[in-house]
Amino acid sequence: MTGFVSSKWARVAERVTVSKMTRPRSPLVYSPEYSVQPWPREHRFVMSKFHDLAESLREDGYLTGPHVHVPEYPSESLIESVHESSYVRAFNNGTLDDNKLREIGFRGLWSPELVRRTNLEVAGTVLAAELALESGLACNLGGGTHHAHRDRGSGFTIFNDLAVAAVALLDKGVDRILICDLDVHQGDGTASIFEERPEVCTFSMHCQSNFPFRKCQSTLDIGLEDGVGDEEYLRILKDQLIFVLKAFQPEFVLYDAGVDPHVGAYHLTPPA
Ligand SMILES: [Zn+2]
Repeated sequence: MTGFVSSKWARVAERVTVSKMTRPRSPLVYSPEYSVQPWPREHRFVMSKFHDLAESLREDGYLTGPHVHVPEYPSESLIESVHESSYVRAFNNGTLDDNKLREIGFRGLWSPELVRRTNLEVAGTVLAAELALESGLACNLGGGTHHAHRDRGSGFTIFNDLAVAAVALLDKGVDRILICDLDVHQGDGTASIFEERPEVCTFSMHCQSNFPFRKCQSTLDIGLEDGVGDEEYLRILKDQLIFVLKAFQPEFVLYDAGVDPHVGAYHLTPPA
């Protein structure tokens, strides 16, 4: 695209650029423990992606400085604000039965390191939410574990970081929270956890034919057809976002960016 800018607007643009450069960066939350090593290379859950993302941000100069925060290991009571205590303790203690680990997709892969990353990732989202209350915007470089239900995990997700963060925000007095979930897979765990909590609006835009095959009812589900391309995807998203923001008027938005809107059965352009 070629743009033409009048001299008046060029001066404004110059000021905007300078102010962007000097503005403090939005908080980023990350722990090197998010990626468990060793991890089977052939496993469909790519454990190294958190480390790889952090390295990429580090190379670009974004992962150094006072805006980078490391989460502390959370108490079990924080996780139990959403999940059943028997499930939390069984996973943390390594006594979760094989069927439940198989349902998660991590059969034979339990380890103390997996417990640490799972808990730290939830703590990271809670910390990012708290930081966003102060700064207006913050990001956890992990999380989005939206298939986890109260009493079980699923689809490579064990504890639901979005749900724990939303409950922590409600406890801090935030009244209306929108969970905007654009992962290609439906946020079934989040939907079921907040089924009867009208103060949390769960909006999931996903590919209908992808996992989970038995979906739960979110406040608003947009199940897209296979083969949706960039233009149609963005048009539908814009329309739905305008609708949900006007109708629900959230005080706070938790955004699950997913790491996979370009896969599944969409035909979206992968990131460059
Ligand atoms: Zn997904």
